[in-house]
Amino acid sequence: MTTHVSHWINGHETASTDGYNDILSPVDGNVHVAVAKGTAQDVDRAAKAATDSAEDWRWMSAAERGRILRRIADALREQAESFLALESADTGKVRNTLMGEIENSAAYFEFYGTLVNLPIGSVLDVSPDQHVYTKREPYGVVGVITPWNLPLNQAARAVAPALAAGNTVVCKPSESTSQTTVALARLASECGLPAGVFNVVCGSGSVVGEEIVRHPSVRKVAFTGSVGVGRTISHLAADKLIPLTLELGGKSANIVFEDADLDFAASEAVRAFVSNAGQVCSSGTRLLVQRSIQKDFVQRVAALVAQRKPGVDYGPMITWKQFDTVKHYLDLAQSRGMRPLVGGTVSSDDELSSGAYVDATLFDNVAPDNPLAQEEIFGPVLVAVPFEDEAEAIRIANDSEFGLVGAVFSRDISRALRVAERIEAGQIGVNTWVTGAVETPFGGQKNSGYGREKGIEALNHYSQLKCIIVKL
Ligand code: NAP
Ligand code: MG
Repeated sequence: MTTHVSHWINGHETASTDGYNDILSPVDGNVHVAVAKGTAQDVDRAAKAATDSAEDWRWMSAAERGRILRRIADALREQAESFLALESADTGKVRNTLMGEIENSAAYFEFYGTLVNLPIGSVLDVSPDQHVYTKREPYGVVGVITPWNLPLNQAARAVAPALAAGNTVVCKPSESTSQTTVALARLASECGLPAGVFNVVCGSGSVVGEEIVRHPSVRKVAFTGSVGVGRTISHLAADKLIPLTLELGGKSANIVFEDADLDFAASEAVRAFVSNAGQVCSSGTRLLVQRSIQKDFVQRVAALVAQRKPGVDYGPMITWKQFDTVKHYLDLAQSRGMRPLVGGTVSSDDELSSGAYVDATLFDNVAPDNPLAQEEIFGPVLVAVPFEDEAEAIRIANDSEFGLVGAVFSRDISRALRVAERIEAGQIGVNTWVTGAVETPFGGQKNSGYGREKGIEALNHYSQLKCIIVKL
């Protein structure tokens, strides 16, 4: 029998008012769960629960709120295997990847559960007969909308700081990957999070997602997903004059100079785009290589890519729609006469033939204006682009609508830092690909979005500043 995934509203599993949608497994194409079709009425119920619980949650002592969040972290680690089973069924990801994501999700609750006394304010020296101070306060109800590539992880990334800052939450996971977000809300209840503080409404973006942004009680929205939907949501948020955090796509540049540690740079170049089958907004999908080492270095990368196997090192495309998108780009490359050094097709492994698996793919000598070097593919596809010198590397890196992350590899640290400071992106690695550490502020420039998740910085985006002036 198919598992039914229902909403989590006001501390309870809550059936849809409009039935369930079947979801196809990316591993074998069979229906594996049916997910509640959320409606405007379901969003309204969740928003009401979040509103009703907001005052008590906000004024609960910070120490107690922190204890609850840290209990969620501990419970996630204790129940890692059951979260792994759910996420694996929805995404087909391999065990190592999932273990890392679950640990990282726990780390968000631990980190923000520890920093719960932040964000803090300050005392302003204005005049001898006034005591003036600032403090940060929650928005109230925060809407969180997440995609399917890192389901539990991205829910945790937004929900943990939102709750730590004293907000309540209405969250909508991607319809394809709802199970772990609902399980997280259930776990949070078991850990003592009061009913209504963290609600999940499943269903489609065009209904549930838009309804969350439109709902009058929702005072801030954190969205992770595509540029197109980010733009749609921005218009809705503008009508209500509410702030957004937008974590959108990327086409991040990984720049390798001739004096780099080439073995390490090659292994990082592979990690940067093969992890999670390239379904990471911060993938390093443009490999900029100095022309003097191009042939040798790209060969080293190709040899490593050839060793990475779908089904072993990384999972399938998580949705069948994404599988079609990646195939579209591989077909486009073929129609342009581009010959991959490695990969270039869906997996030819018989055992994977009913799943959405793609071979890790590398193209060399790609022009910076080629669509494969400009558009976000969101799959395990890397293009190598040669450059002559530092100035050209910076110019090519910045010739992109996106600006999420990037990296520079060079033993000349002055050059590496000069370049790092000139790349238009929110996070840059120097002699390393970027890290997933929860402490590191993360977010985009240009079409990659605005606002910051992660780190202490995120708390400022889930709270607003108030100034209080006292006559002495
Ligand atoms: P998407 O289509 O933008 O969907 C993201 C979320 O928004 C899903 O929950 C989706 O619901 C919902 N949604 C869709 N239409 C909506 C609307 N009109 N109003 C409100 N919500 C709506 O993105 P995706 O295809 O799932 O994910 C891939 C994209 O996300 C890539 O471009 C990738 O770069 C980006 N991404 C960015 C980051 C980051 O941190 N910067 C992280 C991961 C992914 P349903 O799909 O369930 O209908
Ligand atoms: Mg979509």
